[in-house]
Amino acid sequence: SFRALLTEKSEDGTVSSTVQTLSDDRLPEGEVTVDVEWAGLNYKDGLCLTGQGGLVRTYPHVAGIDFAGKVSKSSDVRYRVGDPVVLTGWRVGEAHWGGYAERARVRADWLVPLPGALTTRDAMIMGTAGLTAMLAINRLETLGISPASGEVLVTGAAGGVGSIAVALLRRLGYTVAALSGRPQHADMLLALGAASIVDRAEFLAQPDKPLETAKYAAAIDCVGGDVLGKLLRQIAYGGAVASLGNAAGMGLNTNVLPFLLRGVTLAGIDSVMQPFEARQAAWARLAGLFDFGAYADNVEEVGLEALPEKAGQILRGEVKGRVLVNPAG
Ligand code: NAP
Repeated sequence: SFRALLTEKSEDGTVSSTVQTLSDDRLPEGEVTVDVEWAGLNYKDGLCLTGQGGLVRTYPHVAGIDFAGKVSKSSDVRYRVGDPVVLTGWRVGEAHWGGYAERARVRADWLVPLPGALTTRDAMIMGTAGLTAMLAINRLETLGISPASGEVLVTGAAGGVGSIAVALLRRLGYTVAALSGRPQHADMLLALGAASIVDRAEFLAQPDKPLETAKYAAAIDCVGGDVLGKLLRQIAYGGAVASLGNAAGMGLNTNVLPFLLRGVTLAGIDSVMQPFEARQAAWARLAGLFDFGAYADNVEEVGLEALPEKAGQILRGEVKGRVLVNPAG
């Protein structure tokens, strides 16, 4: 048996989660059983734990879209008992039971062997957030962006993806502007390597023009909505924007002039369905780049019991950096 945070939907539609002990025969089908050592808390986990966004269709459910642990059983030749593995995406934690449990059973195709000297805790400090930030940077580079291109704006900067993107860009030699709605986290962002802080409210309060003064060579956008609409008008000639999140909404109110007159590229980033080779390459690059010491102050650890409260916090934009979940804690 194993402990899990079970998310259930009552007849009146209320979704709630409680820690329960389940027998192993409750685990879904899959070739590999993993003893989960660490899981992450992501914006999407907030949605799954509160029954929002239509992501979870079948209850009872175990949420948790990313986790790392050791293989405890495997019928697939690629994995043996004791192998450290990491999982992100593939709709695990949404359509398939995820990481908010001491044990998970998944398809072998969804796993990635833990790269290099990383511990399972290291892997979850980065988690889906780190992988997605890395994929966004890789994409900007393929679009011709380099540190010499100019300043790069990161939005939702104090959150998981944003804060890791700031740190990685700095590590690669970029000059980073960090847009945040929380001035109280300016020091954290400067410590991670941001050269300047852009206040979200001030940014949005500037009058909209079809094209605005070109300020940034590129951007990594975690929030969408009005912020993405506005920043597109401030991207310099030949620049690129990686759109990966919608914390501020799904809308996009902009116009075509940034594309027509400045040749700007708007590139979508998806981490969920990335093929194995691309994931493995991104994890390897991430493992080599990420400075765990510099990021340590932005990591918070919680047990399963704390997750329902944390879910509300991440949806309200109140979480700083990364929250790690210890299913045994
Ligand atoms: P997170 O830790 O909650 O970070 C989101 C950040 O966005 C917040 O910390 C906040 O930053 C900002 N924010 C929150 N509410 C906002 C609002 N109403 N208006 C403007 N900004 C707001 O979440 P995360 O896990 O890093 O994920 C960030 C986004 O990326 C989410 O939308 C998530 O679904 C998406 N995502 C996508 C992929 C993919 O594969 N495409 C992968 C991972 C995540 P400040 O306080 O600093 O402003």
